[in-house]
Amino acid sequence: MFQKILIANRGEIALRVLRACKELGIQTVVVHSTADADAMHVRLADESVCIGPPPSRDSYLNIHQIVAACEITGADAVHPGYGFLSENAKFADILAAHNITFIGPTGDHIRIMGDKIEAKRTAKRLGIPVVPGSDGAVTEEKEAKRIAAEIGYPVIIKASAGGGGRGMKVARSEADLEVALQTARSEAGAAFGDDAVYIEKFLQKPRHIEVQVFGDGFGRGVHFGERDCSLQRRHQKVWEEANSPALNAEERSRIGGICAKAIADLGYSGAGTIEFLYENGEFYFIEMNTRLQVEHPVTEAITGIDLVHEQIRVASGGGLSVKQEDIKFNGHAIECRINAEDPRTFTPSPGTITHFHTPGGLGIRVDSGVYSGYKIPPYYDSLIGKLIVHGRNRVECMMRLRRALDEFVVDGIKTTLPLFRDLVGNADIANGDYDIHWLEKYLAKEE
Ligand code: ADP
Repeated sequence: MFQKILIANRGEIALRVLRACKELGIQTVVVHSTADADAMHVRLADESVCIGPPPSRDSYLNIHQIVAACEITGADAVHPGYGFLSENAKFADILAAHNITFIGPTGDHIRIMGDKIEAKRTAKRLGIPVVPGSDGAVTEEKEAKRIAAEIGYPVIIKASAGGGGRGMKVARSEADLEVALQTARSEAGAAFGDDAVYIEKFLQKPRHIEVQVFGDGFGRGVHFGERDCSLQRRHQKVWEEANSPALNAEERSRIGGICAKAIADLGYSGAGTIEFLYENGEFYFIEMNTRLQVEHPVTEAITGIDLVHEQIRVASGGGLSVKQEDIKFNGHAIECRINAEDPRTFTPSPGTITHFHTPGGLGIRVDSGVYSGYKIPPYYDSLIGKLIVHGRNRVECMMRLRRALDEFVVDGIKTTLPLFRDLVGNADIANGDYDIHWLEKYLAKEE
Protein backbone atom coordinates (compact mmCIF):
# COMPACT_ATOMS: atom_id res chain seq x y z
CA MET A 1 0.00 0.00 0.00
CA PHE A 2 1.04 3.59 -0.57
CA GLN A 3 2.59 5.63 2.25
CA LYS A 4 1.65 9.04 0.93
CA ILE A 5 -0.70 10.16 -1.83
CA LEU A 6 -0.56 13.56 -3.49
CA ILE A 7 -3.96 14.86 -4.59
CA ALA A 8 -3.63 16.88 -7.79
CA ASN A 9 -7.01 18.55 -7.78
CA ARG A 10 -9.23 20.99 -5.87
CA GLY A 11 -12.76 21.46 -4.58
CA GLU A 12 -15.11 18.68 -3.61
CA ILE A 13 -13.18 15.93 -5.39
CA ALA A 14 -9.93 16.76 -3.59
CA LEU A 15 -11.80 16.42 -0.30
CA ARG A 16 -13.45 13.19 -1.51
CA VAL A 17 -10.08 11.60 -2.27
CA LEU A 18 -8.58 12.94 0.96
CA ARG A 19 -11.33 11.21 2.95
CA ALA A 20 -10.60 7.87 1.28
CA CYS A 21 -6.86 8.24 2.00
CA LYS A 22 -7.53 9.03 5.68
CA GLU A 23 -9.75 5.96 5.99
CA LEU A 24 -7.00 3.80 4.53
CA GLY A 25 -4.38 5.32 6.86
CA ILE A 26 -2.44 6.92 4.00
CA GLN A 27 -0.68 10.27 4.47
CA THR A 28 -1.99 13.07 2.24
CA VAL A 29 -0.41 15.95 0.37
CA VAL A 30 -2.46 18.48 -1.52
CA VAL A 31 -1.23 20.94 -4.08
CA HIS A 32 -3.07 24.21 -4.53
CA SER A 33 -2.99 27.54 -6.31
CA THR A 34 -2.69 30.80 -4.40
CA ALA A 35 -6.46 31.25 -4.88
CA ASP A 36 -7.17 28.04 -2.94
CA ALA A 37 -5.05 28.57 0.17
CA ASP A 38 -8.25 28.70 2.29
CA ALA A 39 -9.88 25.62 0.77
CA MET A 40 -11.20 22.92 3.09
CA HIS A 41 -9.04 20.13 1.62
CA VAL A 42 -5.94 22.27 2.17
CA ARG A 43 -6.89 22.69 5.82
CA LEU A 44 -7.51 18.98 6.31
CA ALA A 45 -4.51 17.55 4.47
CA ASP A 46 -1.39 16.41 6.31
CA GLU A 47 0.77 18.57 4.05
CA SER A 48 0.11 21.17 1.38
CA VAL A 49 2.24 22.71 -1.33
CA CYS A 50 1.36 25.92 -3.15
CA ILE A 51 2.20 25.31 -6.80
CA GLY A 52 1.39 28.58 -8.49
CA PRO A 53 -0.96 31.43 -9.32
CA PRO A 54 -4.72 31.03 -9.92
CA PRO A 55 -4.86 30.23 -13.66
CA SER A 56 -5.08 26.42 -14.01
CA ARG A 57 -2.33 26.23 -16.61
CA ASP A 58 0.09 27.75 -14.08
CA SER A 59 -0.97 25.52 -11.19
CA TYR A 60 -3.32 22.53 -11.48
CA LEU A 61 -2.12 21.79 -15.02
CA ASN A 62 1.54 22.48 -14.33
CA ILE A 63 3.07 19.00 -14.52
CA HIS A 64 6.59 20.09 -13.50
CA GLN A 65 5.37 21.77 -10.35
CA ILE A 66 3.30 18.76 -9.38
CA VAL A 67 6.15 16.32 -9.94
CA ALA A 68 8.42 18.62 -7.92
CA ALA A 69 5.81 18.64 -5.11
CA CYS A 70 5.88 14.82 -5.13
CA GLU A 71 9.67 14.82 -4.90
CA ILE A 72 9.76 17.37 -2.06
CA THR A 73 7.12 15.62 0.01
CA GLY A 74 8.06 12.03 -0.84
CA ALA A 75 4.62 11.14 -2.20
CA ASP A 76 4.62 7.72 -3.85
CA ALA A 77 1.35 8.09 -5.76
CA VAL A 78 -0.85 10.79 -7.30
CA HIS A 79 -4.63 10.83 -7.45
CA PRO A 80 -5.70 13.18 -10.23
CA GLY A 81 -9.45 13.38 -9.42
CA TYR A 82 -11.47 14.32 -12.51
CA GLY A 83 -10.79 17.12 -15.02
CA PHE A 84 -7.35 18.84 -14.93
CA LEU A 85 -4.65 16.16 -15.53
CA SER A 86 -6.86 13.12 -14.95
CA GLU A 87 -6.92 12.13 -18.63
CA ASN A 88 -3.49 13.43 -19.58
CA ALA A 89 -1.45 10.49 -20.90
CA LYS A 90 1.78 12.48 -20.79
CA PHE A 91 1.28 13.17 -17.08
CA ALA A 92 0.77 9.44 -16.42
CA ASP A 93 3.93 8.65 -18.41
CA ILE A 94 6.03 11.29 -16.63
CA LEU A 95 4.94 10.04 -13.21
CA ALA A 96 5.79 6.48 -14.23
CA ALA A 97 9.23 7.65 -15.33
CA HIS A 98 9.73 9.15 -11.85
CA ASN A 99 8.58 5.93 -10.14
CA ILE A 100 5.48 7.64 -8.85
CA THR A 101 2.22 5.73 -9.30
CA PHE A 102 -0.52 7.45 -11.26
CA ILE A 103 -3.81 6.30 -9.70
CA GLY A 104 -5.49 5.48 -12.98
CA PRO A 105 -4.89 3.45 -16.12
CA THR A 106 -1.69 3.40 -18.20
CA GLY A 107 -0.78 6.34 -20.42
CA ASP A 108 -1.46 4.12 -23.45
CA HIS A 109 -5.02 3.35 -22.40
CA ILE A 110 -5.66 7.04 -21.71
CA ARG A 111 -4.31 7.86 -25.17
CA ILE A 112 -6.54 5.35 -26.96
CA MET A 113 -9.70 6.55 -25.22
CA GLY A 114 -8.75 10.24 -25.51
CA ASP A 115 -8.84 9.98 -29.29
CA LYS A 116 -12.51 9.45 -30.02
CA ILE A 117 -11.98 7.83 -33.41
CA GLU A 118 -9.48 5.37 -31.95
CA ALA A 119 -11.75 4.81 -28.94
CA LYS A 120 -14.70 3.94 -31.14
CA ARG A 121 -12.58 1.59 -33.25
CA THR A 122 -11.31 -0.12 -30.08
CA ALA A 123 -14.82 -0.39 -28.62
CA LYS A 124 -16.09 -2.00 -31.81
CA ARG A 125 -13.20 -4.48 -31.80
CA LEU A 126 -13.99 -5.38 -28.18
CA GLY A 127 -17.62 -6.18 -29.02
CA ILE A 128 -19.18 -2.99 -27.62
CA PRO A 129 -22.11 -1.70 -29.73
CA VAL A 130 -21.28 1.67 -31.37
CA VAL A 131 -23.28 4.43 -33.13
CA PRO A 132 -23.46 3.82 -36.91
CA GLY A 133 -21.14 6.23 -38.71
CA SER A 134 -17.84 6.78 -40.49
CA ASP A 135 -15.07 4.30 -39.85
CA GLY A 136 -12.51 6.98 -39.11
CA ALA A 137 -11.81 10.63 -39.83
CA VAL A 138 -13.66 12.34 -42.67
CA THR A 139 -12.16 15.26 -44.57
CA GLU A 140 -13.79 15.26 -48.01
CA GLU A 141 -17.27 16.62 -48.47
CA LYS A 142 -18.06 13.95 -51.05
CA GLU A 143 -17.19 11.17 -48.66
CA ALA A 144 -19.17 12.88 -45.88
CA LYS A 145 -22.23 13.02 -48.15
CA ARG A 146 -21.90 9.37 -49.07
CA ILE A 147 -21.66 8.26 -45.43
CA ALA A 148 -24.49 10.52 -44.31
CA ALA A 149 -26.75 9.22 -47.08
CA GLU A 150 -25.89 5.68 -46.06
CA ILE A 151 -26.67 6.10 -42.34
CA GLY A 152 -29.51 8.59 -42.93
CA TYR A 153 -30.05 12.19 -41.70
CA PRO A 154 -29.78 13.80 -39.24
CA VAL A 155 -26.09 13.20 -38.61
CA ILE A 156 -23.68 14.66 -36.07
CA ILE A 157 -20.12 15.71 -36.85
CA LYS A 158 -17.83 15.28 -33.88
CA ALA A 159 -14.22 16.25 -33.18
CA SER A 160 -11.92 13.30 -32.59
CA ALA A 161 -10.10 15.30 -29.92
CA GLY A 162 -13.36 16.70 -28.49
CA GLY A 163 -14.43 16.74 -24.87
CA GLY A 164 -16.75 18.49 -22.45
CA GLY A 165 -19.51 18.53 -25.03
CA ARG A 166 -17.56 20.82 -27.37
CA GLY A 167 -16.82 20.38 -31.06
CA MET A 168 -20.13 18.89 -32.26
CA LYS A 169 -22.35 19.99 -35.16
CA VAL A 170 -25.64 18.49 -36.33
CA ALA A 171 -26.59 18.36 -40.02
CA ARG A 172 -30.29 17.72 -40.65
CA SER A 173 -30.04 17.41 -44.43
CA GLU A 174 -27.46 17.27 -47.22
CA ALA A 175 -27.83 21.04 -47.61
CA ASP A 176 -26.52 21.54 -44.04
CA LEU A 177 -23.65 19.11 -44.37
CA GLU A 178 -21.04 21.24 -46.11
CA VAL A 179 -21.27 24.10 -43.60
CA ALA A 180 -21.46 21.70 -40.64
CA LEU A 181 -18.35 19.84 -41.79
CA GLN A 182 -16.36 23.03 -42.32
CA THR A 183 -17.42 24.64 -39.04
CA ALA A 184 -16.79 21.48 -37.06
CA ARG A 185 -13.30 21.14 -38.57
CA SER A 186 -12.27 24.72 -37.99
CA GLU A 187 -13.72 24.76 -34.47
CA ALA A 188 -11.97 21.49 -33.64
CA GLY A 189 -8.68 22.83 -35.02
CA ALA A 190 -8.97 26.03 -32.98
CA ALA A 191 -10.15 24.38 -29.75
CA PHE A 192 -8.10 21.18 -29.71
CA GLY A 193 -5.26 21.76 -32.19
CA ASP A 194 -6.52 18.76 -34.18
CA ASP A 195 -9.12 19.17 -36.91
CA ALA A 196 -9.96 15.47 -37.35
CA VAL A 197 -13.73 14.96 -37.30
CA TYR A 198 -16.00 11.96 -37.80
CA ILE A 199 -19.65 11.40 -38.59
CA GLU A 200 -22.30 9.58 -36.61
CA LYS A 201 -26.00 9.06 -36.86
CA PHE A 202 -27.67 11.72 -34.70
CA LEU A 203 -30.00 9.90 -32.34
CA GLN A 204 -33.22 11.87 -31.84
CA LYS A 205 -34.43 10.94 -28.36
CA PRO A 206 -31.74 8.92 -26.64
CA ARG A 207 -30.98 8.61 -22.98
CA HIS A 208 -27.39 8.94 -21.75
CA ILE A 209 -26.57 5.74 -19.89
CA GLU A 210 -23.04 4.96 -18.72
CA VAL A 211 -21.56 1.83 -17.20
CA GLN A 212 -19.07 2.04 -14.32
CA VAL A 213 -16.28 -0.45 -14.91
CA PHE A 214 -13.06 -1.43 -13.16
CA GLY A 215 -10.07 -3.40 -14.32
CA ASP A 216 -8.16 -5.03 -11.47
CA GLY A 217 -4.74 -4.81 -13.11
CA PHE A 218 -4.54 -8.62 -13.39
CA GLY A 219 -6.66 -9.00 -16.53
CA ARG A 220 -10.03 -9.14 -14.82
CA GLY A 221 -12.90 -6.71 -15.34
CA VAL A 222 -16.09 -6.01 -13.40
CA HIS A 223 -18.99 -3.60 -13.79
CA PHE A 224 -20.81 -1.65 -11.08
CA GLY A 225 -24.03 -1.15 -13.02
CA GLU A 226 -25.09 1.98 -14.83
CA ARG A 227 -25.92 5.61 -14.22
CA ASP A 228 -28.51 7.56 -16.14
CA CYS A 229 -27.20 11.05 -16.90
CA SER A 230 -29.77 12.11 -19.46
CA LEU A 231 -30.63 15.37 -17.72
CA GLN A 232 -28.10 17.66 -19.35
CA ARG A 233 -27.72 21.28 -20.29
CA ARG A 234 -25.32 22.08 -23.14
CA HIS A 235 -24.08 18.48 -22.95
CA GLN A 236 -23.19 19.01 -19.27
CA LYS A 237 -24.74 16.63 -16.77
CA VAL A 238 -27.02 18.23 -14.18
CA TRP A 239 -28.78 15.30 -12.42
CA GLU A 240 -27.65 11.68 -12.39
CA GLU A 241 -29.28 8.55 -11.09
CA ALA A 242 -28.65 4.86 -10.52
CA ASN A 243 -30.21 2.60 -11.54
CA SER A 244 -31.51 4.05 -14.78
CA PRO A 245 -35.32 4.29 -14.70
CA ALA A 246 -35.20 2.94 -18.28
CA LEU A 247 -33.38 -0.37 -17.77
CA ASN A 248 -34.45 -3.67 -16.31
CA ALA A 249 -32.17 -6.14 -14.52
CA GLU A 250 -31.69 -8.24 -17.63
CA GLU A 251 -30.57 -5.26 -19.78
CA ARG A 252 -28.30 -4.11 -16.96
CA SER A 253 -26.54 -7.39 -16.70
CA ARG A 254 -26.27 -7.76 -20.50
CA ILE A 255 -24.62 -4.37 -21.14
CA GLY A 256 -22.64 -4.60 -17.90
CA GLY A 257 -21.33 -8.02 -18.94
CA ILE A 258 -20.26 -6.74 -22.36
CA CYS A 259 -18.40 -3.82 -20.74
CA ALA A 260 -16.72 -5.94 -18.04
CA LYS A 261 -15.47 -8.39 -20.65
CA ALA A 262 -14.17 -5.56 -22.85
CA ILE A 263 -12.24 -4.11 -19.90
CA ALA A 264 -10.74 -7.52 -19.14
CA ASP A 265 -9.73 -8.06 -22.80
CA LEU A 266 -8.17 -4.61 -22.90
CA GLY A 267 -6.11 -5.39 -19.79
CA TYR A 268 -7.36 -2.13 -18.32
CA SER A 269 -6.44 -1.11 -14.79
CA GLY A 270 -8.51 1.12 -12.50
CA ALA A 271 -11.83 2.94 -12.80
CA GLY A 272 -13.47 3.76 -16.10
CA THR A 273 -16.83 4.74 -17.47
CA ILE A 274 -18.19 3.50 -20.76
CA GLU A 275 -20.75 5.99 -22.04
CA PHE A 276 -23.68 5.07 -24.25
CA LEU A 277 -26.65 6.66 -25.85
CA TYR A 278 -29.66 4.38 -25.41
CA GLU A 279 -32.64 4.44 -27.73
CA ASN A 280 -35.38 1.89 -28.49
CA GLY A 281 -33.73 -0.79 -26.39
CA GLU A 282 -30.31 -0.43 -28.10
CA PHE A 283 -27.01 0.83 -26.67
CA TYR A 284 -24.62 2.93 -28.74
CA PHE A 285 -21.09 3.59 -27.42
CA ILE A 286 -20.05 7.26 -27.53
CA GLU A 287 -16.89 7.40 -25.43
CA MET A 288 -14.96 6.02 -22.50
CA ASN A 289 -13.70 8.16 -19.62
CA THR A 290 -10.54 6.77 -18.06
CA ARG A 291 -11.01 8.30 -14.62
CA LEU A 292 -13.37 8.72 -11.68
CA GLN A 293 -16.55 10.59 -12.68
CA VAL A 294 -18.24 13.47 -10.87
CA GLU A 295 -21.34 11.28 -10.50
CA HIS A 296 -19.60 8.22 -9.01
CA PRO A 297 -21.37 8.62 -5.61
CA VAL A 298 -24.72 7.38 -6.98
CA THR A 299 -23.00 4.08 -7.80
CA GLU A 300 -21.44 4.02 -4.33
CA ALA A 301 -24.86 4.62 -2.78
CA ILE A 302 -26.52 1.64 -4.44
CA THR A 303 -23.55 -0.76 -4.21
CA GLY A 304 -22.16 0.31 -0.82
CA ILE A 305 -18.65 0.17 -2.28
CA ASP A 306 -16.15 3.03 -1.99
CA LEU A 307 -14.84 3.45 -5.53
CA VAL A 308 -11.88 5.61 -4.46
CA HIS A 309 -10.75 2.89 -2.05
CA GLU A 310 -10.93 0.47 -4.98
CA GLN A 311 -8.91 2.82 -7.21
CA ILE A 312 -6.19 3.07 -4.57
CA ARG A 313 -6.16 -0.70 -3.96
CA VAL A 314 -5.89 -1.49 -7.67
CA ALA A 315 -3.16 1.11 -8.29
CA SER A 316 -1.11 -0.28 -5.41
CA GLY A 317 -1.31 -3.78 -6.90
CA GLY A 318 -3.78 -5.12 -4.33
CA GLY A 319 -6.57 -5.87 -6.81
CA LEU A 320 -10.26 -5.23 -6.23
CA SER A 321 -11.93 -6.03 -2.91
CA VAL A 322 -14.95 -7.49 -4.72
CA LYS A 323 -15.81 -9.97 -7.45
CA GLN A 324 -18.68 -9.45 -9.88
CA GLU A 325 -21.01 -11.67 -7.85
CA ASP A 326 -20.38 -9.53 -4.72
CA ILE A 327 -21.67 -6.38 -6.43
CA LYS A 328 -25.38 -5.99 -5.64
CA PHE A 329 -27.63 -3.08 -6.54
CA ASN A 330 -29.60 -1.89 -3.58
CA GLY A 331 -32.35 0.74 -3.93
CA HIS A 332 -32.07 3.98 -5.87
CA ALA A 333 -29.82 7.05 -5.74
CA ILE A 334 -29.96 10.52 -7.29
CA GLU A 335 -27.25 13.19 -7.44
CA CYS A 336 -27.87 16.92 -7.99
CA ARG A 337 -24.88 19.02 -9.04
CA ILE A 338 -25.06 22.28 -7.15
CA ASN A 339 -23.35 25.05 -9.05
CA ALA A 340 -22.63 28.64 -8.07
CA GLU A 341 -24.72 29.89 -10.98
CA ASP A 342 -27.91 31.79 -11.62
CA PRO A 343 -30.58 29.05 -11.77
CA ARG A 344 -32.20 30.63 -14.86
CA THR A 345 -29.36 32.06 -16.93
CA PHE A 346 -26.58 29.78 -15.61
CA THR A 347 -24.13 32.67 -15.45
CA PRO A 348 -21.46 31.98 -12.82
CA SER A 349 -22.02 33.58 -9.42
CA PRO A 350 -18.71 33.58 -7.54
CA GLY A 351 -18.45 35.45 -4.23
CA THR A 352 -18.59 34.85 -0.50
CA ILE A 353 -20.91 32.23 0.95
CA THR A 354 -22.33 33.95 4.00
CA HIS A 355 -24.22 30.93 5.30
CA PHE A 356 -23.95 27.25 4.35
CA HIS A 357 -26.16 24.60 5.88
CA THR A 358 -26.35 21.10 4.48
CA PRO A 359 -29.23 18.66 4.89
CA GLY A 360 -28.79 15.46 6.89
CA GLY A 361 -30.65 12.35 7.91
CA LEU A 362 -30.92 8.84 6.56
CA GLY A 363 -29.77 8.38 2.98
CA ILE A 364 -28.29 11.87 2.54
CA ARG A 365 -24.72 12.59 1.47
CA VAL A 366 -23.27 16.00 0.63
CA ASP A 367 -19.86 16.14 -1.03
CA SER A 368 -18.68 19.72 -0.92
CA GLY A 369 -15.52 21.64 -0.12
CA VAL A 370 -17.22 24.92 0.79
CA TYR A 371 -18.27 26.34 4.17
CA SER A 372 -19.85 29.46 5.72
CA GLY A 373 -17.52 32.39 5.05
CA TYR A 374 -15.80 30.67 2.11
CA LYS A 375 -15.01 32.92 -0.84
CA ILE A 376 -15.52 31.13 -4.18
CA PRO A 377 -12.70 32.11 -6.51
CA PRO A 378 -13.78 33.10 -10.02
CA TYR A 379 -11.12 31.04 -11.81
CA TYR A 380 -12.50 27.52 -11.78
CA ASP A 381 -15.60 25.53 -12.58
CA SER A 382 -18.73 26.48 -10.72
CA LEU A 383 -19.53 23.17 -8.99
CA ILE A 384 -19.73 23.87 -5.24
CA GLY A 385 -21.19 20.61 -4.07
CA LYS A 386 -23.15 17.49 -4.83
CA LEU A 387 -26.24 16.30 -3.02
CA ILE A 388 -26.60 12.52 -3.21
CA VAL A 389 -29.76 10.89 -1.91
CA HIS A 390 -30.45 7.19 -1.48
CA GLY A 391 -33.74 5.39 -0.90
CA ARG A 392 -35.00 1.80 -0.97
CA ASN A 393 -36.69 2.61 -4.27
CA ARG A 394 -37.03 5.59 -6.60
CA VAL A 395 -40.21 6.89 -4.97
CA GLU A 396 -38.58 6.97 -1.52
CA CYS A 397 -35.46 8.54 -3.02
CA MET A 398 -37.49 11.35 -4.61
CA MET A 399 -39.40 12.02 -1.36
CA ARG A 400 -36.13 12.26 0.53
CA LEU A 401 -34.56 14.44 -2.18
CA ARG A 402 -37.43 16.92 -2.01
CA ARG A 403 -37.03 17.18 1.76
CA ALA A 404 -33.23 17.51 1.53
CA LEU A 405 -33.45 20.28 -1.07
CA ASP A 406 -35.79 22.20 1.24
CA GLU A 407 -33.24 21.98 4.05
CA PHE A 408 -30.25 23.05 1.97
CA VAL A 409 -29.22 26.68 2.60
CA VAL A 410 -26.56 28.53 0.63
CA ASP A 411 -26.64 32.30 1.21
CA GLY A 412 -24.56 35.08 -0.33
CA ILE A 413 -24.36 33.67 -3.87
CA LYS A 414 -26.79 32.29 -6.43
CA THR A 415 -26.95 28.53 -6.87
CA THR A 416 -28.80 26.00 -9.00
CA LEU A 417 -30.73 24.69 -5.94
CA PRO A 418 -34.02 26.34 -7.10
CA LEU A 419 -33.78 24.42 -10.40
CA PHE A 420 -33.67 21.11 -8.53
CA ARG A 421 -36.60 22.15 -6.32
CA ASP A 422 -38.60 22.66 -9.53
CA LEU A 423 -37.43 19.43 -11.12
CA VAL A 424 -38.27 17.26 -8.15
CA GLY A 425 -41.91 18.35 -8.43
CA ASN A 426 -42.16 17.71 -12.18
CA ALA A 427 -44.36 14.85 -13.42
CA ASP A 428 -41.95 13.66 -16.17
CA ILE A 429 -39.09 13.56 -13.69
CA ALA A 430 -41.26 11.74 -11.16
CA ASN A 431 -42.02 9.15 -13.84
CA GLY A 432 -38.38 8.92 -14.97
CA ASP A 433 -39.67 9.87 -18.41
CA TYR A 434 -36.96 12.03 -19.99
CA ASP A 435 -34.28 11.94 -22.69
CA ILE A 436 -31.10 13.98 -23.28
CA HIS A 437 -33.10 16.91 -24.73
CA TRP A 438 -35.73 17.07 -22.00
CA LEU A 439 -33.99 19.60 -19.74
CA GLU A 440 -33.18 22.11 -22.48
CA LYS A 441 -36.77 22.01 -23.71
CA TYR A 442 -38.02 22.46 -20.14
CA LEU A 443 -35.69 25.44 -19.56
CA ALA A 444 -36.76 27.05 -22.87
CA LYS A 445 -40.42 26.79 -21.79
CA GLU A 446 -39.69 28.33 -18.38
CA GLU A 447 -38.06 31.45 -19.85
P1 ADP B 1 -17.88 14.88 -24.94
O1 ADP B 1 -16.64 14.07 -24.79
O2 ADP B 1 -17.61 16.21 -25.52
O3 ADP B 1 -18.71 14.91 -23.68
P2 ADP B 1 -19.67 12.85 -26.09
O4 ADP B 1 -19.34 12.06 -27.28
O5 ADP B 1 -19.62 12.17 -24.76
O6 ADP B 1 -18.76 14.17 -26.07
O7 ADP B 1 -21.10 13.48 -26.27
C1 ADP B 1 -21.64 14.40 -25.35
C2 ADP B 1 -23.14 14.52 -25.53
O8 ADP B 1 -23.46 14.92 -26.88
C3 ADP B 1 -23.90 13.23 -25.30
O9 ADP B 1 -24.18 12.99 -23.94
C4 ADP B 1 -25.16 13.52 -26.10
O10 ADP B 1 -25.98 14.41 -25.37
C5 ADP B 1 -24.64 14.28 -27.31
N1 ADP B 1 -24.33 13.35 -28.45
C6 ADP B 1 -23.13 12.82 -28.75
N2 ADP B 1 -23.20 11.97 -29.81
C7 ADP B 1 -24.50 11.98 -30.22
C8 ADP B 1 -25.25 11.30 -31.27
N3 ADP B 1 -24.65 10.45 -32.11
N4 ADP B 1 -26.58 11.54 -31.35
C9 ADP B 1 -27.19 12.40 -30.49
N5 ADP B 1 -26.56 13.07 -29.49
C10 ADP B 1 -25.23 12.87 -29.34
